[in-house]
Amino acid sequence: MKITKEIERLYLNFKGFDFKTWKSWTKASREYRQKVPYCEICKDRTPKKLETHHVIPQHVCREMNRLDLIVDERNFINTCGRSQCHLQMCHKGNYKNYRPSIRKIADFIDEMDRVDEVIKNG
Ligand SMILES: [Zn+2]
Ligand SMILES: [Zn+2]
Repeated sequence: MKITKEIERLYLNFKGFDFKTWKSWTKASREYRQKVPYCEICKDRTPKKLETHHVIPQHVCREMNRLDLIVDERNFINTCGRSQCHLQMCHKGNYKNYRPSIRKIADFIDEMDRVDEVIKNG
């Protein structure tokens, strides 16, 4: 199907869906998955699939009139598709919710892993 101006306009009006932002997000998240090819929660380096989660969800970015955050990798975190990492940790068990501190939690797990390494290796 050819994307005409009219179809694009309809998309734009559909719940604030912005075709240009959506295309940029697709590209930015693909690049982020290439850069960070593992689950940032459980650290699985060979996940079956990698899902890029928005720390601040798209609809909240729109409410704040901050479309830039939808495509900003500082607002991304990669998870394996497992429900304990994406649904439970990032969305507190319901995709309607989100956990604003998820980046801090992921960094804290990293830090603890580093401490464990230091202890193990003397
Ligand atoms: Zn995981
Ligand atoms: Zn998510």
